[in-house]
Amino acid sequence: MNKLTTDIAVIGGGVIGVATALRLRADGRDVVLIEPNKPGSGASYGNAGTIADYAIIPVGTPAVLKNLAALLLNSDSPLSIRKAALPTLFPWLVRFAYESLPHRYRDNTSRIADLLSDASSEWLELAAEIGASDLLSAKGCLYLYQTPEAFKAAASDVELRRNYGIGQQLLTPEEVQSLEPRLPQVHGGGLFFPKAINFTDPGQVMSVMEAAARQAGVEFVRDSVTTILRQRNGVRMLASAHSIHARAAVIAAGAHSRGLALQLGERVLLDTERGYHLEFDMETLPVERPVCPTHHGFYFCPMRGRLRVAGTVELGGITAPSNPRRLQVLLANARRIFPTLGEPSRSWMGFRPSMPDSVPVIRPSKGGRDVVFAFGHGHIGLTLAPRTARMVSSILAA
Ligand SMILES: Cc1cc2nc3c(=O)[nH]c(=O)nc-3n(C[C@H](O)[C@H](O)[C@H](O)COP(=O)(O)OP(=O)(O)OC[C@H]3O[C@@H](n4cnc5c(N)ncnc54)[C@H](O)[C@@H]3O)c2cc1C
Repeated sequence: MNKLTTDIAVIGGGVIGVATALRLRADGRDVVLIEPNKPGSGASYGNAGTIADYAIIPVGTPAVLKNLAALLLNSDSPLSIRKAALPTLFPWLVRFAYESLPHRYRDNTSRIADLLSDASSEWLELAAEIGASDLLSAKGCLYLYQTPEAFKAAASDVELRRNYGIGQQLLTPEEVQSLEPRLPQVHGGGLFFPKAINFTDPGQVMSVMEAAARQAGVEFVRDSVTTILRQRNGVRMLASAHSIHARAAVIAAGAHSRGLALQLGERVLLDTERGYHLEFDMETLPVERPVCPTHHGFYFCPMRGRLRVAGTVELGGITAPSNPRRLQVLLANARRIFPTLGEPSRSWMGFRPSMPDSVPVIRPSKGGRDVVFAFGHGHIGLTLAPRTARMVSSILAA
């Protein structure tokens, strides 16, 4: 058993954990980061790469609530459920339904908008600091609406975003065509977020960030924390080959954070929205920027040397393997838009760490500031990594 002592221990090496470790190190803290796998190989690897500062609307809305049963039970819809996971998911789903009520949805939107308000500028700064600016693209992001009815139905979301000062432009089908000439014609229209930025290789961003953290002096320990307990003078973490004592700890283990919080006596309604991606290696990409056909719930993401089709939600827990049916549906829907797409070069499934209200948990644990929670970022964890790191750092400095 290797014994280590440090100022701050960060549990989990996804984008949240590594960004937080980097920030704490910049603030002069001694930091040990504990991660069993290659850092950034969880949800932070396979996402759509969008710095989605426009994504202020939670997953649970009154409209989703109205159609929830139909959505969940149709295995081809963008939001589905593994029936075997229903009993375990039940408390999360009940809370999700509550959080989708009009007054909760408005409140959650406001909290998410507040967190997202400076996301792009914070990422531009962090990317420059770690040497990842060349992985950023600034061509905006496009939502597609297949039918005039769907376009009309989006009006209330457009209005809501306008109230929060988010830059967006409504596009006619012809304007969509001139922005993205390789797309087939849509009959509804488009919504363009002209200032949105995105990463062209989230896995590479993680490698660059890990290298920057190592260079700054963050110590990486390859292990999985099985036990966390408070002691009189700090926090002890036990992993299979390590015993780590820290003055304070940050739980940033993504979708796996719930069990660690529970060991400290806190029941957090964290679960996972499993997401999928398919990649197609190609030289000439069919889109210039992330494009989301909203009715399918995924993005076409232009990445380095490949097209990534990423998204959809499957409520299915963290233990079951990838569901081939979800990948088939993703492929079929991608081909509805680009019929000439060949066989995918690779596929992936990952675990979004998700709260029923879509609001991440970034706060001291109820037992004290010696443990800080930084998880539950759902669909916007990449976007919120720099902001989360800053918040955790100021909690620990207080
Ligand atoms: C298909 C898809 C598309 C997405 N698109 C976007 C997007 O465009 N923009 C955006 O902002 N977000 C997006 N997201 C969401 C984003 O990827 C996640 O919110 C984010 O990656 C969560 O980061 P994390 O560090 O909390 O979790 P993770 O990246 O999952 O990292 C958690 C880490 O903790 C480690 N861990 C677990 N248990 C332990 C333990 N006991 N001890 C030590 N370590 C442990 C794991 O090994 C893992 O590496 C998307 C997600 C998916 C699935």
